[in-house]
Amino acid sequence: MDGGIFCSFCKSEAVVTLAYANSCMCKKHFCEYVEKRFRRTVREFSMLKKGELVGIGLSGGKDSSVLLHLMHSLSKSLPLRLVAITIDEGIKGYRPPTVKIARQEAKKLGIMHKTYSFASVYGYSMDSVMKGKPQEAACSYCGVFRRHLLNKACKELGVQKLAIGHNLDDVSQTVLMNIMRNEPMRLLRFGGVAGIIEDEGFVPRIKPLMRIPEREIGLYAILKGIPIKFQECPYAYTAMRQTVRAQLNEMEEKYPGTKFRILNSFLEIKKIAKPPPPKERLKYCEKCGEPTNSKICACCKLVEKLD
Ligand SMILES: [Zn+2]
Ligand SMILES: [Zn+2]
Repeated sequence: MDGGIFCSFCKSEAVVTLAYANSCMCKKHFCEYVEKRFRRTVREFSMLKKGELVGIGLSGGKDSSVLLHLMHSLSKSLPLRLVAITIDEGIKGYRPPTVKIARQEAKKLGIMHKTYSFASVYGYSMDSVMKGKPQEAACSYCGVFRRHLLNKACKELGVQKLAIGHNLDDVSQTVLMNIMRNEPMRLLRFGGVAGIIEDEGFVPRIKPLMRIPEREIGLYAILKGIPIKFQECPYAYTAMRQTVRAQLNEMEEKYPGTKFRILNSFLEIKKIAKPPPPKERLKYCEKCGEPTNSKICACCKLVEKLD
């Protein structure tokens, strides 16, 4: 890639320059570097225990596919049982190709794979939910269904931890957005990095890729032959996140290491802050039994409205 630039560790040709680490790396050293950081993050937060049944949220995008591969290799030294879980939101043209990649990748690694679709569980695909609705509503509808279904699926499968492919960019964007919206309590509640049990109705989530920048996950996928599908959801409407993403990339360019420092500040603050009080005592939805803070959960309310 960078002709004439050599690995800081072995003098082979470099495939990447990492400004924040002040080094250039060849394919071998870069891949080892990514794998090491993934493992170190798992250890640092004691995310996983030997023998656990771990669900992997597998959308078929690059982040979750890389996560699948890294979890698979980790499971050779730390015995884990893995199950990949794909949520099919029912979005024509966008979802079917990634569902196919998800199935293929799981099969390639011999990992059990389960697909759950909005249509079969709730009776509505995202395409049918969105008929005649403003685009802005899409992500919140989709998010309500996806969270509900993932949690429900994990419990049905007996999954003890759910690993999701959020990378350093996702996490640092979320931290900044919470500050920009003056939502400090929400920020402190934004844990989920370490798989802490917040309520027995929720399957704890872990984010083992949170210390890996998005561009490095992309490069890792390319170098390892993991398929990447560049495709944007047709309903994507995340104005603020897009702006924050662009600004963060610009800052990272000017001040290398910015994204890491934002994440680390957040982790430090979280350590010394008083744990935020739970929003309200959790109840369980009268219709579906999932945790909620009202009588009927957001998901069941949404289905009712659609019916
Ligand atoms: Zn090297
Ligand atoms: Zn419900």
